Amino acid sequence: MSTARVMRVFVGAALLAGLALVVGQRIQASAAAPKTPVHAKAVTRLLIRNAMVIYGNAKPAFGPTDIVVQDGLIARVGPSSPKDPPPDAVIEAAGKYVMPGIINAHMHLQDERGGVAQPFQYEANLLLACGVTTVRDVGSEFEKAKKWRADSAAHTLIAPRILIYTPSWRGRTGGAPETTQTVRAGVQWAKANGADGIKIFGIDRDLLQAALDEAHKVGLRSATHIAVEETTAKDFAELGVTSIEHFYGIADAALDGIQDFPADHNASNEVHRFGRAGELYIQKNLNRAKLSGVLDLMIKNKVAWVPTLSIYVAGRDLIRAQNLPWYREYLHPTMEEYWKPDLEHHGSFFLGWTSTQEARWAKDYQVWMEALREFGLKGGLIATGDDAGFIYSLYGFGLIHELELMEEAGFHPLEVLKHATVNGATLLGIDDRLGRVRQGYVADLLVVNGNPLENLHLLNPYGTDVLTVNGKPVSNYATLTPGDSSVKIARGGGIEWTIKDGIPYHVPTLMKEVRDMVAAARAERAKK
Ligand SMILES: [Zn+2]
Repeated sequence: MSTARVMRVFVGAALLAGLALVVGQRIQASAAAPKTPVHAKAVTRLLIRNAMVIYGNAKPAFGPTDIVVQDGLIARVGPSSPKDPPPDAVIEAAGKYVMPGIINAHMHLQDERGGVAQPFQYEANLLLACGVTTVRDVGSEFEKAKKWRADSAAHTLIAPRILIYTPSWRGRTGGAPETTQTVRAGVQWAKANGADGIKIFGIDRDLLQAALDEAHKVGLRSATHIAVEETTAKDFAELGVTSIEHFYGIADAALDGIQDFPADHNASNEVHRFGRAGELYIQKNLNRAKLSGVLDLMIKNKVAWVPTLSIYVAGRDLIRAQNLPWYREYLHPTMEEYWKPDLEHHGSFFLGWTSTQEARWAKDYQVWMEALREFGLKGGLIATGDDAGFIYSLYGFGLIHELELMEEAGFHPLEVLKHATVNGATLLGIDDRLGRVRQGYVADLLVVNGNPLENLHLLNPYGTDVLTVNGKPVSNYATLTPGDSSVKIARGGGIEWTIKDGIPYHVPTLMKEVRDMVAAARAERAKK
């Protein structure tokens, strides 16, 4: 049997496993066999049997083989031996792929939208269901975030591991003007109060220089949303920020001059701001050689790029973004309300959005993606973040879409998964213990129904369409006869288990809880 043939048969089995999950079938274990894990319950010794392994570092998948998790760590990646102590629980992973947990490096911990309460568990469940086991929060209520971080670490809260890059180090002057001294004091405050890093937004060069110098001194990493500022990616790269978020600032540093804003442009108007932001990479004065130079400088100074491609896609295709099928059951009414076009809500700028604005955003994405691809090819560190909760992007689902967009930008799915795992861990400085499937590493693992390298849609907890012939999944390049009644579309995919610190979370259970939360909130709202 050729390798290709083996792979085809294998992929078929993988998808069948996904289908079985969706129709609710379970392989019954014999009475003597160890039981499957219980959702959200710690297991001392967990065996994942016969899995295909995606390591996270972009080397090809390997298997089928076994993974043993002991006390929250990966104790072994390799075949089991009869001499092994018996496991306390077993995940039968034949036909499934196991990969490292995803690191969402740009997100916001949220328990409200527009001042209306929304349960934090809603966001936490969605993130875990989408495979996110670690998050870098880049802006939320600091004290609440610290509590969630501690509770998640203690496993008293079902949520991903949390690192906080707080923006709260700013604005602590009691109304006095900011100076190089006050920003230094702010950075020291962040360090003393338990921040994992600082988030920088909207700052002049002199203050930035002091802030980053202080951050280096106290050992805090930094993330920046540059926006349209006196400072650009060039300043941030020269002064040694850890990562640049989104796309702003990078193209600004590559213009001959500045962006051609019309005279009535008002940066406080979100329609103006987001409309024109979608024209940044298609400015006539964008100098591609200069752009390459900015990317080179970022690489030279080890500045990472977290592009958050998925958070802006509504700008290039609004109707699609407003009508994603998983909103039917999984969109919380508080979020639904927040997303309605409203200048008071950040990112809800779609007031009379036009086809011309969509076309410009679409072209803008092409150049932006080319720049990202160049950055990656030259060795730049790219990590993934979804920035969800804004602009029709739902927690976790946005991250899966981020991966799909990185494939669109030209990265191999193995590279895309590296961005989401190994690179995220490197960015956060936790790559000595997280981000890959490796003996001794923390057991943050995803058990996926199918092969995400074949189809990243399989990571979506809503599942995805799979083509079947006589009930058996086949490639959609197979020879099909029109009118053949044995050809059917079935629903497959989804992550089955998200394992964090060795604790298995059953994704269909997490999603059922989300459905229930949404249904209850909608019923409550209907009463009003
Ligand atoms: Zn953000």
